[in-house]
Amino acid sequence: MAVPPTGEKVFRGIPVSAGVCRGKVLVIDKVRLTISRRTLKEEEVPEEVIRLERALIQTRHQLLEVQRKVSEGMGALEGSIFDAHLLVLEDRTLLDEVVRLIEKEKVNAEHAFQVVAERYATTLAAIEDEYLRERATDMRDVTSRVLNNLLGLEAEVDLRHLREPCIVISHDLTPSNTAQLDKRNVLGFATDVGSKTSHTAIMARRLRIPAVVGLKDISQQLKTGQYVLLDGFNGTITVNPTDQTLFEYGQIIIQQDTLQQKLRDILLKPAVTIDGHRVYLSANIEQPTDAEDVKANGADGVGLFRTEYLFINRDHLPSEEQQYEAYRAAAQALKPMSVVIRTLDLGGDKFLAHLQMPSELNPFLGWRAIRFCLQERDIFRGQLRAILRASAEGNIKMMYPMISGLDELNQANALVDEYKAELRKENIPFDENLEIGAMIETPSAVIVADSLAKRLKFFSIGTNDLIQYSLAVDRMNEKIAHLYEPTHPAIVRLIKSTVDAAHAHGLWVSVCGEMASDPVMAPLLLGLGVDELSASPPLVPPVKFLIRRLKLSEAKELAQFALSSESAADILARCQELARQIAPGLFEEK
Ligand code: PEP
Ligand code: MG
Repeated sequence: MAVPPTGEKVFRGIPVSAGVCRGKVLVIDKVRLTISRRTLKEEEVPEEVIRLERALIQTRHQLLEVQRKVSEGMGALEGSIFDAHLLVLEDRTLLDEVVRLIEKEKVNAEHAFQVVAERYATTLAAIEDEYLRERATDMRDVTSRVLNNLLGLEAEVDLRHLREPCIVISHDLTPSNTAQLDKRNVLGFATDVGSKTSHTAIMARRLRIPAVVGLKDISQQLKTGQYVLLDGFNGTITVNPTDQTLFEYGQIIIQQDTLQQKLRDILLKPAVTIDGHRVYLSANIEQPTDAEDVKANGADGVGLFRTEYLFINRDHLPSEEQQYEAYRAAAQALKPMSVVIRTLDLGGDKFLAHLQMPSELNPFLGWRAIRFCLQERDIFRGQLRAILRASAEGNIKMMYPMISGLDELNQANALVDEYKAELRKENIPFDENLEIGAMIETPSAVIVADSLAKRLKFFSIGTNDLIQYSLAVDRMNEKIAHLYEPTHPAIVRLIKSTVDAAHAHGLWVSVCGEMASDPVMAPLLLGLGVDELSASPPLVPPVKFLIRRLKLSEAKELAQFALSSESAADILARCQELARQIAPGLFEEK
């Protein structure tokens, strides 16, 4: 179905990050390079070698230019990442081997370069030494640049540095791509695949970039340069919007401004219900610099620090020292408020470019989070020591992701004890009473919650995963997004039994999944007895706005209804009814 050159056309997907934007689209097409082998005539060989040398010089200039821009924009340390790439271009052994292959076998330069470079990369990737393994990624990165230049193709678009404001359209974006988006020039983004609780969507909300996912084949339908309107409230992309449509959206933007003013008015007020129940409303962060956003949005602290973002988007694993600095910076910036640091949750949809992780059939059920850390002891040790050391400098708490049973918890706790002993021996201070909790995000953890509770200080319910694991609905798959139901009676009961087990052992319970960022869901969670909600920073004010208009008694009635109901749709309807009744201003714009 081709898009007509004029005339309005609307594409519908899943809204994942609120806001409206309009502008030209930039379609990112990941063209897979197919390199064919071509046999040369004897007289063509010298020219082929010259062609290779020209491509190497061109690549060198491009890399120096990228390095200059990154150093200017992000700092010398980030810029130095490209030193390793430049070194590949100067590796005489590799280049001589490529030239020998061209001359001896009389093959084209692309083929020769790819064969030799891939052999080097595969060898490096298999080496035990972490530093050398990382060089395999550099090698592959440089190879694709050289091949692009040999083939006369445009280099892949660098999303960190866009020339003009645009709406990015792509088949998919990884969480690491999204974290690096050039915020000044990305007005919004839309993808063919994806869902509300993918980490890409979470990151879009975090960055306040309007976004729509699950648009099926939008990346095939649109062409770079087309003018569109993206509606992150309703999940639509309108191509060639008419004047009437633009007028209607203008009204929405005006209503948004009015709402923002109301939210600013309550920014520094506490999250307390009309009948005096104080709710602890904290924020989820990914970087120590996000601490500013936590304060600017009037949160009570950090309920979830997703530490994996310190690991992705960089060439090397962060050292213990670098992590210590990051955790300390967050804790000091927010002192005396508490910062709950979650240990590394890699895997699922978050991977390291430089760490060779095997591709798995079911990554969310695979080598992820605590399972990965309990096997990769060096990585876990560095992180636990860094968190322990930082705990001397602020109000830090720590929690483990994806605990599925007591064994994992006991193993992790034993490692913490071991590293505490190390630090004591080294005379390095840490908080002896550091509170440790666990994410409750697998159904098995809910069922054995009373055993876990005896060994912990708090629970944090990760509804994003708890829903996907309990309902057997992949949180990334847009085709079954309608089955991903936070108000499913099973989810309501799982949350209630977690709260009951925790309270019976004197633990407090937080919810840090995306349910806590949705003002419609806040009354249900509070009615079920949850003590703390941890939301994406930009969504703290709307959740607070709603809490300040709520009576705990109404929330309890709603929870009673939900616990006795057999229908997800009925529970959702009651949640929406209550939220709209007490805080209509939050919803009229949608
Ligand atoms: C969750 O699963 O709800 C959660 C907060 O963790 P993440 O989204 O990072 O998996
Ligand atoms: Mg999770």
